[in-house]
Amino acid sequence: MSESRLAGIGMTSARTRERLVQRLQEQKISNIRVLDRIRQVPRHLFVDEALASRAYEDTALPIGFGQTISQPFIVARMTEALLQGGPIERLLEVGTGCGYQTAVIAPLVTQVYTVERIVALVGRARRTLRELKIRNVNFRHDDGNVGWAARAPFEGILLTAAPQEVPPALFEQLAVGGRLIAPVGAEGRQQLMRYTKREHRIVQESLGAVSFVPLLPGLLS
Ligand code: SAH
Repeated sequence: MSESRLAGIGMTSARTRERLVQRLQEQKISNIRVLDRIRQVPRHLFVDEALASRAYEDTALPIGFGQTISQPFIVARMTEALLQGGPIERLLEVGTGCGYQTAVIAPLVTQVYTVERIVALVGRARRTLRELKIRNVNFRHDDGNVGWAARAPFEGILLTAAPQEVPPALFEQLAVGGRLIAPVGAEGRQQLMRYTKREHRIVQESLGAVSFVPLLPGLLS
């Protein structure tokens, strides 16, 4: 990929990205490593060219298949919430989508295991992350409701689609001390939740109202 495509010009330039970072700081995102990732990851490469000029607005945008690229503030918030509480060796992400959240968090953990039910999105995310030379991500086309048992336990689990309730398999695959971040609830009244697994119980906290696409059952080839 050419350097100029990566660096961006005009509405995708470093200056435009810096404005986004400032906005997130104003909204109390304070983890420097997370802010640096938002600054570095070229979000315009994760959306259609027609939408590239809007890539550094703090909004969700369509990516096809009825899915969206998450709002940068939410990506930053979830990443920050996940990293609080200790280092993450293995991260399970349910809902790869275009791979933007994956790209933001990948260098902040040792290995990412990411699962997506729409096969075309798996291929697209894999190509984009390869272009960005992000190499610690393992992709899987599967129903994320079952997690990825062969790679468990995970110190971190991140859902980027909302279940009505967190699938029990995911709690089982969470390491003791691990955190699971997920939007939970029916459309229109979801809460971003953080669950921390302790020896004999799960501690839960609400991080505020959010709006995500639903976690769906089954696969789409
Ligand atoms: N993380 C993305 C946003 C993903 S949108 C970003 O950074 O922009 C949510 C994604 O979850 C969609 O791609 C959707 O297809 C996927 N999804 C929904 N239900 C799923 C399931 N059961 N298993 C795996 N992926 C699922």
